[in-house]
Amino acid sequence: MLIKSNISLSESSQSFFDSLKGELGDEYTLEINTDNNLDDLDWKYWLKRAAKHDNVQAAFYDFKLDESHPLNISLYKSNKSNDEAINLHISKKGKHRALFLDRDGIINEDNGYVYKWDDFKVYPDVVELIQLAKNHQLKVIIVTNQSGIARNYYTIEDLNELHLKMNQWLEENNASVDGIFYCPFHPEGEVSQFKRTSMLRKPFPGMFLMANAQLDIDLENSIMVGDKNSDRINELEMMTFFIQGNYELSDKEATFSNLSELTEHIKSQNIFN
Ligand SMILES: [Mg+2]
Repeated sequence: MLIKSNISLSESSQSFFDSLKGELGDEYTLEINTDNNLDDLDWKYWLKRAAKHDNVQAAFYDFKLDESHPLNISLYKSNKSNDEAINLHISKKGKHRALFLDRDGIINEDNGYVYKWDDFKVYPDVVELIQLAKNHQLKVIIVTNQSGIARNYYTIEDLNELHLKMNQWLEENNASVDGIFYCPFHPEGEVSQFKRTSMLRKPFPGMFLMANAQLDIDLENSIMVGDKNSDRINELEMMTFFIQGNYELSDKEATFSNLSELTEHIKSQNIFN
């Protein structure tokens, strides 16, 4: 169920121990006033619970209520008895458009749970696409599901090490990126810390909301490129393209056989202008 309504907000904050950063931080409590009939939901309680949920807490990071910008808030649940399904969407009208790129199958060959630089085969075509985006003042952001961490195939340290090398390669090719967001969680994981449903995992919008909050991204006018149906975040209504790789894709009109073809399409249709 997705609830959308006209809302107004009031904000308060208090200190809390931030388990992600290991230090004290501010917890925001947003009080929502709405004209919809939502008698079956206790908004304040749900929001407070959501704010304590690590995933959402991450999305709250650097979040400031700026009354000059409209905020869009949706609260949805799929099952009232299931905590994990309670998610909170908060986004603000960001300043910068972005090109969001999935990693495996877009930046590099998707050979399944790649975590070593020696096994990481970069698609050289990605350089031109990134440069085109940067020439048009778009931020370039990688958003990648990394359930291999939950599945105990590799660690966050392995992933960070790989991403350092990847960044180095991209920089050397004048195609550096502005941010990388990853989701280490999976409900069938083996590592208890990461075994759960997460709003960060695509097709949920968590990583995009973090980009909105941390890098001031205008989600509505941004573009996503991926190689799986789940790379389209339905609730964000963002323009999305696909590259045909290992997976069955349902939107044939938005599907290209490789990055060069997509880059040519973007140029000819002035999509980054
Ligand atoms: Mg992929």
